[in-house]
Amino acid sequence: MKKIIAAAMALAMVLALAACGQKPVESDSFTANPGKLTMATNAAFPPYEYLEGGEIVGIDAEIAGAIAEKLGLELQIDDMEFDSIIEAVKGGKADIGLAGMTVTDERKEAVDFTATYATGVQVVIVTEDSAITSVDDLFVEGANTTIGVQRNTTGDLYCTWDIQDEGLGTVERYSKGADAVQALKTGKVDCVVIDNEPAKAFVSAIEGLKILDTEYAIEDYAGAMNKNNPELYDSVNAALQSLITDGTVQKIIDKYIPAE
Ligand code: GLN
Repeated sequence: MKKIIAAAMALAMVLALAACGQKPVESDSFTANPGKLTMATNAAFPPYEYLEGGEIVGIDAEIAGAIAEKLGLELQIDDMEFDSIIEAVKGGKADIGLAGMTVTDERKEAVDFTATYATGVQVVIVTEDSAITSVDDLFVEGANTTIGVQRNTTGDLYCTWDIQDEGLGTVERYSKGADAVQALKTGKVDCVVIDNEPAKAFVSAIEGLKILDTEYAIEDYAGAMNKNNPELYDSVNAALQSLITDGTVQKIIDKYIPAE
């Protein structure tokens, strides 16, 4: 009997916690813009965020919309360089950075991450006739590969640390993933290291490119939030958690990434 009561009490506590986390944001003063949930992103990362008819759409935009709705806020999306998102969150100009952003220890020093809502994979894009046939080829002594990346993404960080700093190759940084892929097409770089979903979108839009079967790294995507706004963090994270638990997030992902 005691056990049942203890279990019931624990359940009641969990429910109470969940309920208070999902309270609408009562005071506008906690958000960057009154009455709004302001999301910072880089709308050049399909299918997570991209422009369609002048509007920012995609997985992250829809997840943010669902979070905003739960909290009784209006969603505002601010488009910027990927590189600027963490600064916008840190400076209180945006409430959440949602940008297919990988959780890393370095970023954790600057922001608090929400629950993770998706998995990303760093892949390598090459031309169809490339001599590079596996990720391991990038690490061969004397390979001297020129690798295109999007500036300050994890693809950039890993290739800089693992390959350039080890004297095994060179990293060329572009402000957009699509620009890096264009550089591959025109022979300015030998390959591009980038997240798998935008990689698929870029490769299907440009003839003569392919994605290697071997993966460079597997990572978690989460929202980036200000470290000094715990009320907002708790509300947003609880809303996201419940959207994960009730299957909404998976439904949104499946809509944009049909099962293969
Ligand atoms: N997942 C990568 C990162 O967080 C790339 C994200 C992006 O380009 N939007 O660095």
